[in-house]
Amino acid sequence: MQLEAAPPQNHVRLMNASLALGIAILGAKWAAYIVTGSVVIFSDALESVVHVLAVALAWYALRVSFRPPDREHPFGHFKAMYFSAGVEGGLIVIAAAAIAMTAVEKLFTGVVLQHIGEGIAFTLLAAVANLVLGILLVREGKRSRSPLLIADGKHVLADVWTSAGAVLGLLLINATEWWIMDPLLGCLVGIHLAKEGVQLVRGAIYGLMDQTNPELEQRARRALEDFCAEHGLRYHRFRLREVGPQVYIDFHLQFADGTPIEQAHKLATEAEERVAEAVATRADIMTHLEGEEHAPTHDDFRRPRCQDLAPL
Ligand SMILES: [Zn+2]
Ligand SMILES: [Zn+2]
Repeated sequence: MQLEAAPPQNHVRLMNASLALGIAILGAKWAAYIVTGSVVIFSDALESVVHVLAVALAWYALRVSFRPPDREHPFGHFKAMYFSAGVEGGLIVIAAAAIAMTAVEKLFTGVVLQHIGEGIAFTLLAAVANLVLGILLVREGKRSRSPLLIADGKHVLADVWTSAGAVLGLLLINATEWWIMDPLLGCLVGIHLAKEGVQLVRGAIYGLMDQTNPELEQRARRALEDFCAEHGLRYHRFRLREVGPQVYIDFHLQFADGTPIEQAHKLATEAEERVAEAVATRADIMTHLEGEEHAPTHDDFRRPRCQDLAPL
């Protein structure tokens, strides 16, 4: 299947919006921190700095990941998405640590809050904008199986929670005048962010480790088994790995001894097409053709050993 050289237009638009909104929100949050002096708003604003860095990286990775395969990268560039998601997660964890440290320090030194009303207004505005953007990103990311959009969307939604925490904290402090609530809520925001960051890093590692996709694998195997039954073939050593929106599949096909190579090749091509149809996504499929005998080292990881199956 031919790969597009450029990322889908709607992905580019979403990432442009994400970057522009990130920068605007960074300005609004720092303004809110400067006027209020609140720890919880500081934590929100600090996260925004990390946020803009992470989105800028994802914005760039989106362009890299859709470059067609070249001489140095014959399997394409989709894994750039996982690097981006992993670094984004790592940056969030660092921001979370900085927030927790500031909050603990302020628990001892105390906080003087001012202009709470303005702080709440700025933060609320940022939260609503992020909520809309985050939902759009995650929805499109899931639809098109883009780890990059999902990571960015989850990050944006995590920020909605930090902002919500900040607003709640300021409202409580306004009502009760317990300034201690401010650094305490700052700590909670930090913990929440750390969890979100670790999750992103974990997702990136799974992607980089070439995990299979059980649902796609089941669909592909079923189609292949049907095809083999129709044509009296056997298959083994089926492997599937998923890299962003692309899947790579390879398997061995066994034909009756004496089958002309032209006929075997034609059937193998048909089998590849059937499997590609079944997974219904960009698939790069490779088959290896064999006669009735084959090396026992070809055995599958989970299937019964080939020798135990009925002869062709
Ligand atoms: Zn963020
Ligand atoms: Zn084999």
